Amino acid sequence: MELTVAQKLEALLNLQSIDSELDEIKKLRGDLPDEVRDLEDEVVGFETRISKFKREVDTLDAEINGYRLNKKDAEKLIQKYKDQQMNVRNNREYDAISKELELQELEIQLADKRIKEADFKIRNKNTEIADVESAMNARKKDLEAKRKELDVLVAESQEEEKALVGNRDKAATNVEERLINAYNRIRGNAGNGLAVVMVRRGACGGCFNIVPPQRQADIKDKKKIIVCEHCGRILADVDAIEISRR
Ligand SMILES: [Zn+2]
Repeated sequence: MELTVAQKLEALLNLQSIDSELDEIKKLRGDLPDEVRDLEDEVVGFETRISKFKREVDTLDAEINGYRLNKKDAEKLIQKYKDQQMNVRNNREYDAISKELELQELEIQLADKRIKEADFKIRNKNTEIADVESAMNARKKDLEAKRKELDVLVAESQEEEKALVGNRDKAATNVEERLINAYNRIRGNAGNGLAVVMVRRGACGGCFNIVPPQRQADIKDKKKIIVCEHCGRILADVDAIEISRR
């Protein structure tokens, strides 16, 4: 079913009034939705950092295990060399084994040093994790409070919003998609969310620039859709009060 221009303008005006009401409802929520989203992002950021730190701790733990195994190997070798040393036949053999023993002692010292270093790093990481966790928990508390606040506001207007969204869908039926898209685009660009306005007191109801009398007459004719030459908003009609005054 093809609508006349007048019917399309009426439908758009209806759509605009519903969208403006929805805007009002959203305005009541203020910055809360943005704040909630920001806090959610922050918490995710904290969680990412914590899991990165925890992976680093795991890596260090694995390193420590490796060094402990090295130590055990060295201890076994030392035991073996010591047994061998009991049965040497000459000084040369004794010295050679002594050198091997020394080497393994050094191996153990090195492993101990590395274990200590890794342990130190782990302790630092764990402190960092605890700091980030406490910062995160504080944010989580903020988030919870803001969410509750927002939930209350959303719940208060839920019915009204649902009804408006239903009406909006009805208002949009039969209006061609191209026009709806234009409406949405203009609305998105307009600071006050107004895409369809009336001419009031000879001026565009969106940007308040003067609309020339001939253009006002064309608007009242409703033969075609006319937009404000200053702001691009659709001019649906000329306010009746203006007409009665003339
Ligand atoms: Zn305008």
